[in-house]
Amino acid sequence: MSAGSHPRRHAERLERAARFVEEAGLDGLLVTPGPDLAYLAGHAPPPLERLTLLVVAPGRDSVMLVPLLERPEALASPAADLIEIVGWADGEDPYATAAKLVGAGRFAIADQAWASHVLGLREAASDLALVPAGRALPPLRAVKDDEELAALARVARVADAAFADILDVPFAGRRETDVAADLADALRRHGHQTVDFTIVGSGPNGASPHHEAGERAMAPGDAVVLDFGGRLDGYCSDITRTVAVGEPPAGFPDVYEVVRRAQQAAFEAIRPGVPAQDVDRAARAVIGDAGYGESFFHRTGHGIGLEVHEPPYIVEGNAAPLETGMTFSIEPGVYLPGRFGVRIEDIVAVTGDGSVRLNEAPRDPQVVR
Ligand code: ZN
Ligand code: ZN
Ligand code: ZN
Repeated sequence: MSAGSHPRRHAERLERAARFVEEAGLDGLLVTPGPDLAYLAGHAPPPLERLTLLVVAPGRDSVMLVPLLERPEALASPAADLIEIVGWADGEDPYATAAKLVGAGRFAIADQAWASHVLGLREAASDLALVPAGRALPPLRAVKDDEELAALARVARVADAAFADILDVPFAGRRETDVAADLADALRRHGHQTVDFTIVGSGPNGASPHHEAGERAMAPGDAVVLDFGGRLDGYCSDITRTVAVGEPPAGFPDVYEVVRRAQQAAFEAIRPGVPAQDVDRAARAVIGDAGYGESFFHRTGHGIGLEVHEPPYIVEGNAAPLETGMTFSIEPGVYLPGRFGVRIEDIVAVTGDGSVRLNEAPRDPQVVR
């Protein structure tokens, strides 16, 4: 995972994190392996039982405690010049060492920190109060820089290419898992380094938004929800299209058109300064007016970047204004139990005066064989 390779970029990110901490009246931020560590330090070890801990505190130099065997890796990371790297050896109590490095006070801790690490720190540092960074600080990674926007555009384009390929594979007579495997192959063929999910929800299975892929054999007359994504250079793709196998089921064209218009309404509602929930409301109004309000029972979207779901969340109750450089999904859907589901999802980036779609796979109804 290379989350921006230039030391200056990491210096800016570390400074911003320290500023957020200060503005929140906290003493520091603690980060264990995961997207925040990759973002801040450019260091992406696997999250494991051995403690890796970055300490960012206003007015202090950043320091990262790492398992001794991962010290060479940490020293090779882009932020090594900006962060003091301290190793701890197997057999040593890393929490006691961490407690000394962190000191006393009220610290935000990354949401992805394992409970074992949080509890270990708490036990070793009695004067340390921990609060979840996700609630205590503004989202660190929501506004993307140019390099991140380019990476997200790149991974979205190759997801589009995978969808184009899947229109040529047979659906009728094959199982959902077969098409899911085809999707995974197509994602890799077009340059995804990992495949994270390949949802294939055919017929009634499409009415369950997070149905993965099962043994159901598909047949002409099925609607099929395809929702898939993975990573390229650390950044995530996530796209949904709904196709019909041959002649679509009764009622499908009308529902499809409602969802397509809802997604377009969400798209047109996006510009800097608009509360995130207004984008949700725009999509929901179209679906509600068409009489399917009860059948759209999830939020309209989620931020995307180093994580497939991250702030900003496009949901009622999130009044935080959208900012230029934010990236998120718009993915309204209508789900009719026992019949079919329809969802259309694109990733968008907020621009100076509106937004651009990073996905450009066709949004008009596609028929497969
Ligand atoms: Zn999801
Ligand atoms: Zn999706
Ligand atoms: Zn999504």
